[in-house]
Amino acid sequence: MNHTYDVIVVGSGPAGACAAWRLAQAGVQVAVLEKAVLPRYKTCGGGIIGRARQSLPVDVRHVIEQDCHTALLNIVPNGLSFTTQRPTPIVSMTMRDQFDYALLSAAQAGGAVVHQRCAVEDVSYHGDGVTVSTKMGEMKAKFVVAADGALGTTARRVGMADGRVLIPALEYEVTVPHELLDRLSRVARFDFGILPRGYAWAFPKRRHLSIGVLSMVQREGELKRAIMQYLTLLGCRDVTHIERHGFVIPVRPRKGPFIKNRVLVVGDAAGFADPVTGEGISFALRSGQQAAQSLLEGKLEEEPVQRAYSRSLAESILPELRAGVLLARLLYDFPRLRSWAFSRQGQRLCEAVTDVMAGRRSYRDLALTPQTVFKLLASHWSRNVRDRFA
Ligand SMILES: Cc1cc2nc3c(=O)[nH]c(=O)nc-3n(C[C@H](O)[C@H](O)[C@H](O)COP(=O)(O)OP(=O)(O)OC[C@H]3O[C@@H](n4cnc5c(N)ncnc54)[C@H](O)[C@@H]3O)c2cc1C
Repeated sequence: MNHTYDVIVVGSGPAGACAAWRLAQAGVQVAVLEKAVLPRYKTCGGGIIGRARQSLPVDVRHVIEQDCHTALLNIVPNGLSFTTQRPTPIVSMTMRDQFDYALLSAAQAGGAVVHQRCAVEDVSYHGDGVTVSTKMGEMKAKFVVAADGALGTTARRVGMADGRVLIPALEYEVTVPHELLDRLSRVARFDFGILPRGYAWAFPKRRHLSIGVLSMVQREGELKRAIMQYLTLLGCRDVTHIERHGFVIPVRPRKGPFIKNRVLVVGDAAGFADPVTGEGISFALRSGQQAAQSLLEGKLEEEPVQRAYSRSLAESILPELRAGVLLARLLYDFPRLRSWAFSRQGQRLCEAVTDVMAGRRSYRDLALTPQTVFKLLASHWSRNVRDRFA
């Protein structure tokens, strides 16, 4: 086994596979170290939104199980319901073992070396490179890309500050009778109000449903109750099989810097999931690409790579996540304001968020600044006070 590479990528999810693909295309000697046996299961709704499709390095149509051109959003306690439709799929449904393996196989075909069952146990910096310790022995590289997901430890091992917020999410793979599968097919469904500060989803796959709930506050017991209520709401009485999975989603990014001691952090390891929806594949792909591009631009030299990666994140992903955090606060921290806003402008809001998911607009385009949020809250509260004393 070769023990020296230009770049070692830790983790073979979309962030790692995408970084490896781009580097291999440019002729860089790159190895991906993955602790699991491949293809590996990943707890995930498996919804690939338009924004993610824009960052895909290769065609993955063969692993798409169903395209949803329609999205349905319900605000359950208020009985409000909104539908959006687009000519291109709003969400394409996949199984993550297949999707991630398709990306990794493309990287491998381009020249990336893949070591599976190869958990990284330590990372140490020595000026002109990094040494990575694994059960298979030590390996050396000029740079490491830490793509080891929400619970990865590589960033911590090089002393990067954290500051991410990890929220719990449950995802059940539910086998239901054909009639129910047909009734829920072709539509990506989202329900608010099933649990206080979170939402539930129903994603149709080829032969089963992926049902999930997430909560912006860490209360796992509440999630289990909520998902059972949600199954009842969907009419899933005659379930023939359920596989239960749970994991965490980072809905706030690390404090930064996102590169330290020749280690670049990407995807969930960096905290790059969407703060509004918990969707993480878009920015996993994008940050993987940006890390690779920065390594190429900086010609694998420490200072130039550091500058390039910090700049590219500051120009794209980070401002988008900041705008997303403001919208998430409005949606989850002020349920009465949410109901009020949806009862007046629900369709417009859904169209706007659908455009963000489709990659046609960004959260920044919605012009949510702390000032506009404050004005919105102030007008809502003054209306409430007026109504109460009228
Ligand atoms: C319940 C749930 C539902 C979700 N639904 C969606 C959805 O529908 N759409 C969407 O876009 N996002 C969704 N997400 C978020 C999405 O799954 C993540 O944001 C995405 O997987 C992040 O990709 P990544 O490449 O950064 O990390 P991951 O996909 O987590 O990959 C990290 C890889 O690193 C490996 N690894 C970890 N430690 C080590 C180590 N020490 N050595 C070697 N390898 C290591 C892991 O085995 C893993 O293969 C969901 C998340 C959850 C929890």
